[in-house]
Amino acid sequence: MKYALKNGIILDGTEHMEPLAGYTVAIEGKRIREIVPDSQFTDRCRVIDLQRSYILPGLINLHVHLASDGKPPRAGQKPPNYKKLFQTLSGSRIVRAVLFRMTMGYARTELMSGVTTIRTVGGILDLDARVRDAVKAGKTAGPRILAANTGISVPGGHFAGSIATEAESPEMAREHVRKIAATKPDLIKLMITGGVMDASEEGEPGVLRMAPEIVKAACEEAHQLGFKAAAHVESPEGVRVALENGVDTIEHGAVLTEEMIRLFKERGAAHICTISPALPYAVFDLKESNAQPAAKKNGKVVMDGIIACAKACRENGIPVGLGNDTGCPFVLHYNFWRELHGGGIFSFGAEYCMDQRREIMGLAEGFQRRIYY
Ligand SMILES: [Zn+2]
Repeated sequence: MKYALKNGIILDGTEHMEPLAGYTVAIEGKRIREIVPDSQFTDRCRVIDLQRSYILPGLINLHVHLASDGKPPRAGQKPPNYKKLFQTLSGSRIVRAVLFRMTMGYARTELMSGVTTIRTVGGILDLDARVRDAVKAGKTAGPRILAANTGISVPGGHFAGSIATEAESPEMAREHVRKIAATKPDLIKLMITGGVMDASEEGEPGVLRMAPEIVKAACEEAHQLGFKAAAHVESPEGVRVALENGVDTIEHGAVLTEEMIRLFKERGAAHICTISPALPYAVFDLKESNAQPAAKKNGKVVMDGIIACAKACRENGIPVGLGNDTGCPFVLHYNFWRELHGGGIFSFGAEYCMDQRREIMGLAEGFQRRIYY
């Protein structure tokens, strides 16, 4: 089947792209046959008028918590007890079934927002893989999914007992990896340090929680079974421990030393930059973010660390991918574009952040009024 897209603005995804107008995109079957100036397109086929909409390559969101909606807390609302919430959500068959349907809906939203591939990094039980398989089987609309399913943390660690199981020893970590492997994931996720959401002290968002021996055991087991290991890391010490013990992708990141840059290269590791989740903590007033007091300073530490990490990696030829940590407060399944736009922080600094703040607050307001689209 042949058809043509006209009157769109093309973003071709190349590094120095300029928005391109006045071109026709000719499609044959499932492939783009050619992109030519309107005047040169003379084929007789079905024409779709894009009415100045944008047309761009499918986006890839590398850091998603698929089962979570990203709804920000209301004023005065305490952070939920995630362990309890997980028990409620996973405890009954009916609730699990409802959650599965909701998660399929979130996957659909990712697709409708222009994201054609997602990578999940910490979910509830095996939901992510089940949604992946439902999409593959054509039962629901959604992006391609690389699923981590549940992650591995340690007692008292990041999201322990909710979207990550607790490993108390290296042996237990290996056992957890094997159990997760049985749920047919595509990668294994580790929670090595704390995060902004669970830090109670100012200046301590990325405190090391997982002992190096546990990181090593989990990575070895994951590699043996053919999986890459992704790790939540939000401090320099965490980055070092992760890279020294076999982690393949540093999720979030922190300020790097020369030694860490060397480790990145030696291991062939990559950085997954996530500005979106830290930004509301770092730049919103507390009464807007409704976060815990320590979260504002910690959010800033983490955001600056992530940006510094991405910059250092780019300068040193280390691959940098983007994810928006969908599911964190204010990070919704339809706003991955914001993370791409987040590149603006590199050049525009604080002023840009304030711009973002206004936009996100507008979105959050709509969200609370349940106006989603
Ligand atoms: Zn995350």
